[in-house]
Amino acid sequence: MTAQISFEMQARDGLARTGVISTPRGEIRTPAFMPVGTAATVKAMMPESVRATGADILLGNTYHLMLRPGAERIDRLGGLHKFMNWDRPILTDSGGFQVMSLAGLRKLTEKGVTFKSHIDGSKHELTPERSMEIQKLLGSDIVMCFDECPALPATDKAVAESMRLSMRWAERSKEAFGDRPGHALFGIMQGGVTPELREESAEALKAIGFDGYAVGGLAVGEGQEAMFGVLDYAPGLLPEDKPRYLMGVGKPDDIVGAVKRGIDMMDCVLPSRSGRTGQVFTRCGVLNIKNARHQDDPRPLDEACTCPACRHYSRAYLHHVFRSQEIISSMLLTWHNLHYFQDIMAGMREAIAAGRFAEWEAGFHAGRAAGDIEPL
Ligand SMILES: [Zn+2]
Repeated sequence: MTAQISFEMQARDGLARTGVISTPRGEIRTPAFMPVGTAATVKAMMPESVRATGADILLGNTYHLMLRPGAERIDRLGGLHKFMNWDRPILTDSGGFQVMSLAGLRKLTEKGVTFKSHIDGSKHELTPERSMEIQKLLGSDIVMCFDECPALPATDKAVAESMRLSMRWAERSKEAFGDRPGHALFGIMQGGVTPELREESAEALKAIGFDGYAVGGLAVGEGQEAMFGVLDYAPGLLPEDKPRYLMGVGKPDDIVGAVKRGIDMMDCVLPSRSGRTGQVFTRCGVLNIKNARHQDDPRPLDEACTCPACRHYSRAYLHHVFRSQEIISSMLLTWHNLHYFQDIMAGMREAIAAGRFAEWEAGFHAGRAAGDIEPL
C-alpha cells in the first residue's frame, strides 16, 4: 500500500508494455481493462463478481452520477466506493464526452458547457472547475481532465480549435485539482486524426504535467484503421514513464491492437452491454445466443472458459433464458464477456512479460479466424 499513485513498468515487448499502477486502494495490473459502472453499478453484476472476473479498477461516469443521484448526495453517503460497495480503485471520466453524446441543448463557451439533462430536462453546467469538484465529491482515485471531444469527421480547423480549448481546460483542471496525495489526474490528448495537432496537444499536456495521459477523441466512429493510424504514433508522443489510457475502446481486436501500440489502460461498455443483448465474445470470435442453432446444444459457450456461465450452463440453457427474457441471462452473459475480456488482458500481460507478445497475438487472431464451433 502506498499514499501516492505511481506507475512501475515491468517489461516491454516491442511497443507493448506491462506494469503496475499502485494506489492506496490497491494495485492495477497493466495493460488493464476497466469495466464501466455508469450509474454506480456494472449492470447485472455484483461488485464482488466484477472483481472475480479479474478487474482491478472500474470506471464511473461523472455525467450520469451528477444528474442522478447527484455528487453531493454520494459525498454525504460516504463517497462512490462505499455507496456502490467497491473498495478498489475507480477512475471517473470528466463528463465532457457524455454531455456531447447524451445531453440536449448544449451551449459551449470558453467557460464550459451548459446543457439539459437527458433524464428530466433540468439545466446544468459543467466547467473544468465543477468537473474536478464532482470527481472529488465522488472520491475518484483517477480523475480525468474536463475536455471537449468533437465528433468526427470534422474540419482540421474545427478539430484544432476544439483541441486548443481542451488544452486551456486541461490547465484549469490541473489548477482546480490542486494537490491531492493518493489521487491522480490524467490529461487527455486531442487532435483528431491529424499528427501535427496530436503533437501540439501532447506538448501542451506535458508542459502542464499529469500523472497519466489519455488518448482522447478516438472510438467515436472513425473506424479501426483510422484509430490504429493515430495509435501508430500518438502513444509515442506521451511520456514513457506514465500510464497511457485509450478511452472508450473497444472490441477485443481493438484492445489487442492498442496494447501492441503502447496503450496501458482501456474501458468500454461493450462486454457488459453485449451481455444484455445476447452477443457473446469468445476465443473463437462472436456468437449470438438468440440464434436457434443453440437451442439443443448441451455444450458451454467456450470449453476453455472458467467463468460460471461456461462451467455450469449449456448454450441451450443460455439460449432459453435469453429468449425468455430472464434476468439471469444478462447476469451470466455479462459475467462471461467480462471474464473473457479480462482473460485477454491477463494473456497479454503474461506474454509481454515473457517476451512473446507476437506469438500470443498470432494465436489470438487464429482463434478468431477459426470461428465458433460447428453446430451439432
Ligand atoms: Zn465463460
